[in-house]
Amino acid sequence: MLRYILYSYFAYIEPNEKKVMYMKKKWLKGAMTICMLCAVYLLSREGAMLTGKSITEEKGLILIDSGHGGIDPGVVGIGGVKEKDINLKIAKELAGALEKKGYKAVLIRKDDNGLYDAESKNKKVQDMQKRCAMIKEEKPLLTVSIHQNSYQDEAVCGPQVFYYKDSLEGANLAKCIQEELNNRLQVEKPRTEKANSTYYLLKRSEGVLNIVETGFLTNKKEAELLRTKEYQKKCAEAICNGILKFLKTVEINKTNVV
Ligand SMILES: [Zn+2]
Repeated sequence: MLRYILYSYFAYIEPNEKKVMYMKKKWLKGAMTICMLCAVYLLSREGAMLTGKSITEEKGLILIDSGHGGIDPGVVGIGGVKEKDINLKIAKELAGALEKKGYKAVLIRKDDNGLYDAESKNKKVQDMQKRCAMIKEEKPLLTVSIHQNSYQDEAVCGPQVFYYKDSLEGANLAKCIQEELNNRLQVEKPRTEKANSTYYLLKRSEGVLNIVETGFLTNKKEAELLRTKEYQKKCAEAICNGILKFLKTVEINKTNVV
């Protein structure tokens, strides 16, 4: 019946009118397809935001620890510069650089405050315990802890990366980061990464972790450089590149095993 009505209707329409109607229908179909695609895009975007996931593909979680904080300034260097402040700034730059590469980067210390409770009797111990607990809970691909160095001889300078003595993966990560820091910061007397068995975080934390000392706040030139945003960014980019290099080797080893 419907076919008959439609046929009779179209039978009375002039060929030109038929063409116009056909074009209109085609245009309408096109417009509806575009609307549907827009709706799908907006809904998936909304969904991604609600679940807290970035629109870019998340390749995995990396934790960034800024050494010290709150009542503990760390090294107080030349010109009164506080290690805790430099650490946090580099950590934030590093988080941005890693997120640009598609990784989820989380800061263990997000602001000036330490991770201890105000009424805690041993703030330093509680602070370190909380950092380790967060690493245990989050199970990141790896963790880097940002620090600055100090020495009685003011001439000593340059970045240095530490890893736990028995961690093969930690040693590989440290080698990658150390090389990138030496190149990017154009270090005159480059150091090599160093094993350590006494630093609290290296001893007590789970998974792969490096302590990255980006420079000496007791060296005049380095202390001045580390205060600038440009140098902080350079340090962060070098650490980011080292991490990416390390993760690539992990990926290659995995493929070879399979
Ligand atoms: Zn420190």
